[in-house]
Amino acid sequence: MPQDKPDEKASASAAARRPMPPAVEALNRFAAPITALSGIGPAMARKLEPLGIATVSDLLYHLPRRYLDRSNVTPIREAKVGEDVTVVGTVTEADSRTTRSRKKMLVVTLFDGTGYVSGVWFNQDYHKDKLTVGSLAAFSGKVGFLYNMLQITNPSYDILGSEESDERVEGLNTGRIIPLYPATAGVTSAVLRRFVARALEAVKGMADPVPPPVVARFGLMGLEDALSEVHFPSGAEALKKARYRLAFDELFTMQVGLAVTRKRRQSQARGVSHTGAGELADRFKSALPFELTGSQRRAFDEISADMRAPVQMNRLLQGEVGSGKTVVAVMALLLAVESGYQGAMMAPTEILAHQHYRRISEMLAGLPVCLELLTGAPSKAVLEAIASGEVDIVVGTHALVSAQVSFANLGLAIVDEQHRFGLEQRVLLGRKGKDPDMLHMSATPIPRTLSLTLFGDLDVSVIDEIPSGRKGVVTHVAGQDEREGIFAMVAREVGAGRQVFVVCPLIEESDKLEVRAAAEEAQRIARELPEARVELVHGQMKGVEKREVMERFGAGEIDILITTVMVEVGVDVPNATVMIVEDADRFGLAQLHQLRGRIGRGTERAICVFFADPTTEEGKARMEAIRQYSDGFALAEADLAIRGEGSLFGTRQSGLPDLKVARLARNLDLIRKARAEAFAIVDKDPTLSNKENVLLRWETNRRFGGALDWLFHA
Ligand code: ADP
Ligand code: MG
Repeated sequence: MPQDKPDEKASASAAARRPMPPAVEALNRFAAPITALSGIGPAMARKLEPLGIATVSDLLYHLPRRYLDRSNVTPIREAKVGEDVTVVGTVTEADSRTTRSRKKMLVVTLFDGTGYVSGVWFNQDYHKDKLTVGSLAAFSGKVGFLYNMLQITNPSYDILGSEESDERVEGLNTGRIIPLYPATAGVTSAVLRRFVARALEAVKGMADPVPPPVVARFGLMGLEDALSEVHFPSGAEALKKARYRLAFDELFTMQVGLAVTRKRRQSQARGVSHTGAGELADRFKSALPFELTGSQRRAFDEISADMRAPVQMNRLLQGEVGSGKTVVAVMALLLAVESGYQGAMMAPTEILAHQHYRRISEMLAGLPVCLELLTGAPSKAVLEAIASGEVDIVVGTHALVSAQVSFANLGLAIVDEQHRFGLEQRVLLGRKGKDPDMLHMSATPIPRTLSLTLFGDLDVSVIDEIPSGRKGVVTHVAGQDEREGIFAMVAREVGAGRQVFVVCPLIEESDKLEVRAAAEEAQRIARELPEARVELVHGQMKGVEKREVMERFGAGEIDILITTVMVEVGVDVPNATVMIVEDADRFGLAQLHQLRGRIGRGTERAICVFFADPTTEEGKARMEAIRQYSDGFALAEADLAIRGEGSLFGTRQSGLPDLKVARLARNLDLIRKARAEAFAIVDKDPTLSNKENVLLRWETNRRFGGALDWLFHA
């Protein structure tokens, strides 16, 4: 039995004497800033910041990306031409030269005591910045032979340590398993390992956020052990159990988060009832130059039924890029307007917001509806028009949720490409009205087996028909040796008046390098195709600049648009018939599918080329899947089957906590049980404010990016 509740004044002095409850005490250590650890000062803290590491727990959850051990590292002397290998050695030389065909060739040579091997890159000089002479690196890829040397073209690589670091990989020879971290400039895996060891020391003996009975019922490893094992594995079995435990936590806290959200919604059971006759939407529909597809009609019926009901709608509208979600969204907005409410639609980028705005204003021509655009720093006049209710529909970016924006009576809030937003932004948008109906739209197909896990709190409508009259997209996965042929095809398409997207490689953790790679690519293509009008757009450009380039591309004034991944969403250029993606194996399948969706929106046949030289079995399977499946749902299922484990969405594009639980998520039985436990806890303690749940609440919050604070404190 817990102690009886002392009154506040008495407890202030008593608190100093009484030991803190273990959960609270653990929380304090867990949430401490990393500078609390010895050896980490403000300078190092700044270096760790780009990795998202600010607290002791951030550090502990900065998990190794992969592991090396003796069983998967090949001594260079034993590497055979044609084999896929991973080698580890010191960089002895990093040299870039220009080949006869005027390509830039970067050669980085490794020595491991048994021999030399070179990694070779073409037109990707930027790798030199990371692979400095003296650093310890691992290369993986297929071994070839060039200029009398063993070489690996386009190896995937990791930096294990720098010249000055004191920790080397002798461990490999003693059978240790070496964790490799996603590193950033100035923080090597060796340095991270040292800090992680200190963090583990600092949380020794802490309480477990998952209630002990749950840990026992699921046969889980304790959290402290799991964190220790995942960073410093004592063996393969222990590592497996540790990873299972951490994956379980993701699944579990996700369910706890959903349970809290749901509880709150149920306990309120309030919302807007949209009672308009539906005349505006009908007028809009009959003015469209096409008939709605059956799935569009069904989706709208489901949405309008929810909107008419007095309980808040919380619905996900799923459909492939180009399946016609926007049209359905506009009809929903019109129902809101006719019912006397305002509607808002939030898009993830300025470009998309502008495009939606333009297209929706065209569609609404002739209807008595006032539409406004809101991005960046809105004018006072616009803000006032929204606050007074003069504006009926606002299309905008996340600027919509900024404090200065207020609505007269927001009745429907739509979030386009919802997975691009954090839960926090979505929740904030909803708070701009009084329990407005919420419609989340997504072009990322989520396998049905996962939707229960991810969206246990949402109702789902699916548009699974593509409007007729589209020719579709031919997908080709190409090796570097096909480059010339592909660019000859590009030249032909451009000659025929069509337009081309070229997407540059995704470079983890560095937007700067990404921009540099894109600029190099633009120069190269301009050289290869001197006739074409080539331009570059990237994420570091200002909003207006980006928009200006996109508009000119849309108007056909640019033939070839070189981009970083930022064009990934929504952009609609029907005359674009070719999409080329460099280093496609660096992208997730969901991302590749989204990119491919950018083309084939007109009536011309479209071609999508993914350049990739996958070296792993998984990589090969992924490329085969994207070639084979044009249907997003089939692809998502394949993705899940291939990876088993790993995140469904990359961290970059996901607002949700990065789910590393895909393998667990396929285990529906496990999900159901974890869900039942989570919901039982929340049933007893809806805001997780009991002392024993304090750590669980904090942990859930951490994984939901702080979003739940808004729910807890509402
Ligand atoms: P999404 O938002 O799902 O990517 P959009 O609503 O932007 O799709 O629709 C893509 C394109 O298809 C637009 O040009 C739109 O006008 C058109 N479209 C939408 N519905 C239909 C339909 N039923 N028949 C023909 N074309 C359609
Ligand atoms: Mg769309």
